[in-house]
Formats: sequence, C-alpha cells, structure tokens
Amino acid sequence: THFGYREVPESEKTRLVGRVFRSVATRYDLMNDLMSGGLHRAWKAFALNIAAAKPGERVLDLAGGTGDLAAAMAVRVSDRGLVVLSDINDAMLAVGRDRLMDRGTPRRLTYVQANAESLPFPDNTFDLITIGFGLRNVTHKDRALAAMSRALKPGGRCVVLEFSRPRSPLFGRLYDAYSFAVVPKLGRYVAQDEESYQYLVESIRKHPDQEALKALMEDAGLQRVTYWNLTGGIVAVHRGYKL
Ligand code: SAM
Repeated sequence: THFGYREVPESEKTRLVGRVFRSVATRYDLMNDLMSGGLHRAWKAFALNIAAAKPGERVLDLAGGTGDLAAAMAVRVSDRGLVVLSDINDAMLAVGRDRLMDRGTPRRLTYVQANAESLPFPDNTFDLITIGFGLRNVTHKDRALAAMSRALKPGGRCVVLEFSRPRSPLFGRLYDAYSFAVVPKLGRYVAQDEESYQYLVESIRKHPDQEALKALMEDAGLQRVTYWNLTGGIVAVHRGYKL
C-alpha cells in the first residue's frame, strides 16, 4: 500500500459505468438540464450550502464529472484553499477540466483520476469531501465511504448528493412514469444513447434510500449523520462528520 491506496480489480459494474460515462461525456451537461428541467442546478446549490466550503479549506470533489460542484467550491475556498476535482473516467474529467480552465480560478484546482473506492490520498487530508450523483455508480459503496472517512481530517465533513426515494407513493408513481417513459427517449434523441439512460433510471431505483444510506455512512465511521429531502425526496443530501 502507498498512502493507504490499494489497487482494486475492475468489476463488471465498473466497466459498464465506464462505458456509460465515456459515451455521454460531451452531452452530459445538456442532458442534465433536459432531464431535470434545470432542477439539478437547485439541488447542487442546496448541497453547496450544506457543504459550506470556507476560505483556506482543502476540498475533494469525488465523481466530480464536468465539475459543477468543484467550480463553485473553488470560488468559496479563495486563493488560500484548494479543490481537487476527481473522477474515475478520463473522458468526464477532460470535459470538466476544459470547463474549469475557462472559469478563472485555475490555481485553486487540481485534477486526479481515481476510483472513489481506493483514494490515492494520505489519511486526514481534507476538510470537506463531496460526491454529487456519484455514489450510485460506485460498485462498493461501503469501500468508497470508508475511503472518504479515512481521507477526511478529524472534524471534517462529507456531503453526499444523490437520488433517493420519493416520500409520497402517488408522487413516486408519477416520477416512475416520467423516468421510465421519458428519460430513455431523451437519451436516444439527444445523446444518441438510449441504453445509457436506461442504466441511469435503473441505477436510481437500486440505490439505497434515505435511511439506508444514512446507515451506510454510519457504518463507515461517519458521525452525526443527517439528511435533507429535496423535491419530495427525489433527491437527498446527506452530511456526516469524522469526529
Ligand atoms: N458530480 C457531477 C455532477 O453532479 O454533475 C457528475 C456526476 S455523474 C452522474 C457520475 C460520475 O461518477 C461520472 O463522471 C462517472 O465517471 C463517475 N464515477 C462512476 N464510478 C466512479 C467511481 N467508482 N469512482 C469515481 N467516480 C466514478
């Protein structure tokens, strides 16, 4: 091991997820706006407020993709701080880096291609670790949460923004109808890739709900775990501390 980093063999799921995001990288931002009707921006803004990055802090954005969260946090940490944008996928990271280069905070940003399950950072490195719409795609969520906990400084916090379970059954049925009927078609006509968006809808259904994710975070050693439901529970923001 080097910095507690272990090589993890690529699983079937990891390969599938790799194909999905390589395929959608260049259409990713447009698809997010179309599928969520722009709501993903409000969800990210909410998560950023919960994360509350401060001047001088060291921040890691995991599964950061095209860099929405990292870009906003780079502004908040000021020139004294640092934001690491990290993703397992070179195509997503390349799109993210190009976008962030144009935003005017390059000195506060670095880029690391890494699997969230085996983070190449020393213990106790970050004040804040975020993962936005990423944990769902990780094969071994327990390993990723343990790796996050390890890389956090004592007192540091981790914020998970992810799809979750609608709280009302009626709303849940409407949401199901929308996602199974509309999302794969949008994928077909806009991203020329229906299958990837079929994967997306299915991965959302399989992801642990609010309480199950809270329990996973606690199992990984995070404490004082709380969560907020957004848009009727379609999305939730979880926060836990390493104490
Ligand atoms: N955080 C960005 C956002 O909110 O727009 C991107 C989210 S995107 C839906 C999911 C990202 O997770 C993809 O860029 C994908 O490459 C990445 N990913 C999937 N599995 C991963 C893993 N095991 N470790 C790190 N990143 C992973």
